[in-house]
Amino acid sequence: MQQPIIKISKRALRITIKIDKRKNIYLTIPKKTAKKTALDFFHSKKKWIEKHLKKMPDIMEDIGGLPEELNLISISEKYKINYIQSPVLERMNIEILIPLKTINLHGNIKNKNLVILSIKKALKVIAHEKLTILLQNSAKKYNLPYNKLTIKDNKTNWGSCSAQKNINLTIKLLFLPFELLEFIMIHELCHTVHLNHSVDFWNLCRQKLPDNEKLKKTFNQQTHQYIPCWMDL
Ligand SMILES: [Zn+2]
Repeated sequence: MQQPIIKISKRALRITIKIDKRKNIYLTIPKKTAKKTALDFFHSKKKWIEKHLKKMPDIMEDIGGLPEELNLISISEKYKINYIQSPVLERMNIEILIPLKTINLHGNIKNKNLVILSIKKALKVIAHEKLTILLQNSAKKYNLPYNKLTIKDNKTNWGSCSAQKNINLTIKLLFLPFELLEFIMIHELCHTVHLNHSVDFWNLCRQKLPDNEKLKKTFNQQTHQYIPCWMDL
């Protein structure tokens, strides 16, 4: 069985084992616990881990072929992806031709993990270019100035806003209908005024976007259907 990825944690109170979708095994060890104790614990759970790994679907097989095209409906643009196989290259060369709506990936395209990471890198560049303009427009329109935009590949949240009025948005937003992207942008822009989810915050959201409640519901119910499976890897 593969070795676990060890994480020493100040906050953890007990030893935990976690397996992610890519079948990586994580062993979290509280700072005060001896590494040997944790490894003994890990080995005592070997049977359970093996059973669990066997039951997990092979995501890499499930996603089938790689995407030929990225349909970024929030910005009404489609990007074609060209895959150029070159096993000699260890890394992937990523060429993003924004005016031509084309992404060229040149490298070992048989390595699906590497391909997906490369597509996400390209999406970051595209998101940075396109979402910066859209967020600036919204900030002006709704009179909610912010400081800086950073684009991330967040797994769990769609956006965030710091006390310094720096906003983070995830690349996944590119795949959503524009109204849902706008809903998230306004949500984060409203956090530049209220850094919480208080009544005042929701009132401000409603004031800026009268359909806020409806969009929140639509967002919670529908977003998953827009995101390609390979994005979750
Ligand atoms: Zn929020």
